Amino acid sequence: MTELPVIHFDCLHFYGDRPCKPNKELGVFCGNCSYYEKDESITEEFPPVPAAVPHDLTDRYTKIIIVKLDAAGDVLRTTSILPSLKEKFTDSNITWITKERSYELLKDNDMIDEIYFTTDELSHVFNNEFDIAINLDSGTESCQIMNLITSKYYYGYTIVNGKPYPVNTAANEWYLMGVNDAVKKANKKSYHKIIHEICCLEYEGSEPYIYLTPENRRHAAELGKQHGIDKFNSYILINLGGGSRWQYKKWTSAGYINLADILSEKYPDTVIGIIAGDEDREFYSDISAELKLLKRDNIVFWGTENSMEDFICIVSLANEVFTSDSLCFHIATALGKYTVVIVGPTSNTELDVFGNGKVVYSEKVDCLCCYLNTCPKTINCMNTLEADEISGLFGANR
Ligand code: SF4
Ligand code: SF4
Repeated sequence: MTELPVIHFDCLHFYGDRPCKPNKELGVFCGNCSYYEKDESITEEFPPVPAAVPHDLTDRYTKIIIVKLDAAGDVLRTTSILPSLKEKFTDSNITWITKERSYELLKDNDMIDEIYFTTDELSHVFNNEFDIAINLDSGTESCQIMNLITSKYYYGYTIVNGKPYPVNTAANEWYLMGVNDAVKKANKKSYHKIIHEICCLEYEGSEPYIYLTPENRRHAAELGKQHGIDKFNSYILINLGGGSRWQYKKWTSAGYINLADILSEKYPDTVIGIIAGDEDREFYSDISAELKLLKRDNIVFWGTENSMEDFICIVSLANEVFTSDSLCFHIATALGKYTVVIVGPTSNTELDVFGNGKVVYSEKVDCLCCYLNTCPKTINCMNTLEADEISGLFGANR
């Protein structure tokens, strides 16, 4: 188990779920920091984090509750914990508290029995007694919910003196990664392994999962027909999105344009789908305008205004997916798609394509996993990735 180093939980700058400004900007951490300022509103001590206690409830009906609110991609990747819980606790009921936006990703997962939103009346949940409560997110809202749950065993994070705090030592490592960028950067484990360790479960390679109902499949087929996907032998989806939080989470316009150009020319019997989320509307529109000038009938445009259900269906039709580290990545892997993901400022070791695709990152920069929202570098993690090389990763499933 990871021991926590000196942490000034009572510092005015300490959040508990993200790095403080001095850590982010100067790389200092509490043990060697001159920016400490006592938060006078905190009068109680922070108790030692208790040792983790493995659960031993296998022979009886087990009530489990999971708190994982957002972001949608994070919620989806967390479903990899479900097969391990169901294997260990064969007779169990699993309740999941989340946000409305993630409902579509969870609602048909047969390993989840009940789903509630944070906006629901939850008093019956808080009056219930669970055997295992899991909160894998050190965000304040998740920790406050965890604090209201009654359970025999707790795993993950709760609130102490108003600050997110590990429930036990099994949660220390991920907590530390959340508050200290240097620890996050040094991590070599996948997210899936980490969340299993937090829950004191063996990780045996379980994957995130979305179940497509017959209705979803019919709807996907209709969407495919409307866009002429059914006329081609194969379909590669290029997701341009990456959101606005990290400047270099997504690739360059030229990169996406060149990749679509190369693939559509090299594989005339393959259709190239272009898609993005609504945060990337302008980016999508500029790239689409350039691609339309190529006048290729094997490039189709899915737009940026797809509902979650449509987005899942569109990904489900693809044979191969190219994406940034975003919701599309998590949907593609949860659907078992061959997936190529490009990564720069976020952690590439946390991602797993489960042997079906590739995690691609630049070998020409030495600053990966910086978690910087903006970056001034002219030679950077994204403009050093070449469309020629990336195009060679496709065609594997043909
Ligand atoms: S690194 Fe410094 S400023 Fe940040 S929480 Fe610790 S003591 Fe406070
Ligand atoms: S610091 Fe490096 S990894 Fe981070 S955004 Fe800039 S180029 Fe990319």
